[in-house]
Amino acid sequence: MSRFDSAYIPKSAMGIFAHPDDAEFTVAGTIARWAAAGCEVTLVLLTSGNVGTHDPTLTRERLAEIREREERASAGKLGVAQVVFLGHDDCEVQPTMEIRRELVREIRRYKPEVVICNDPQSLFFEEWYVNHPDHRAAGTVAIDAVFPGSEMELLWPELGAPHKVHALYVSSTMRPNRWIDVTRTIDVKIAALNEHRSQLGERDISDMIKEWAIAAASTGSWDGEPDARPKYAEAFRVMKLMREEKAGGG
Ligand SMILES: [Zn+2]
Repeated sequence: MSRFDSAYIPKSAMGIFAHPDDAEFTVAGTIARWAAAGCEVTLVLLTSGNVGTHDPTLTRERLAEIREREERASAGKLGVAQVVFLGHDDCEVQPTMEIRRELVREIRRYKPEVVICNDPQSLFFEEWYVNHPDHRAAGTVAIDAVFPGSEMELLWPELGAPHKVHALYVSSTMRPNRWIDVTRTIDVKIAALNEHRSQLGERDISDMIKEWAIAAASTGSWDGEPDARPKYAEAFRVMKLMREEKAGGG
C-alpha cells in the first residue's frame, strides 16, 4: 500500500515547536498544503528563540522581538491562522508540568484535529547533526499534552472542556510511516524560511530544502506509476489516537 497520504486534509491542525523556524525547516510544506485546502493551522512556539545568535551586541529581548516578527511574516506566507508564543527561554526548554499545562490550555482553546510536533527520540541525524535539546523537550511535552493531558475531564477543568486530538503527526523521525506530497508547496516553504533572516544570514537554503524533500519522497513506499511518484515530500510518523469506525460495522 502506498504510504503517501496526500488526500487527507484535517479541519484544524496545531504545530507545537520549540523555536521560530522549526516548523518551517521540517513541516512547512504540509502546513501550507493543508492551509491552502482550508485547514485552520495554529502554531504554538515554546520560545521566541531569544538565544539564537552569535551576535553579542543583541539582547535577548531585542532578538525575541526580531524573531517573533520573522515568524509572523513566515506564518503569513504559509497561511497559518494564528501564532502563539509561550515565551520560555531558548536553550532551556524542559518537558515540565508547567509547559504541559500551557499546551493543554492551547489545545482545549483551538481544538486541533491533528497535532504536529518533533520526534523526541531523534538524537543523532547522520553524522553531522545532534538534535537540539529544546526540540526533543518540545516533542515530549507536546505529546504528553495531547495524550493524556487534553482529553481528561478531571485534569485541569479550569482550562476548558476536554479535547481529543485525532492524530499526532511526528516529524524529524527515524521511523516514518506516512509521506505527504509537498511538490506544490515547496516554494512557499522556502519563501517562509527566507523570512528567518536572523538565522540564515545571507545563506540560500533552497537547494538544501529541495534535497531533503527529494530524499524524503524517494523513501516513501509508492504503489503508483513510478514516474508519478511525488518529487518532493515530507515524512511523518503518524500516531492515530482515535480508531476509525470499522468499515461494514464488523
Ligand atoms: Zn530549533
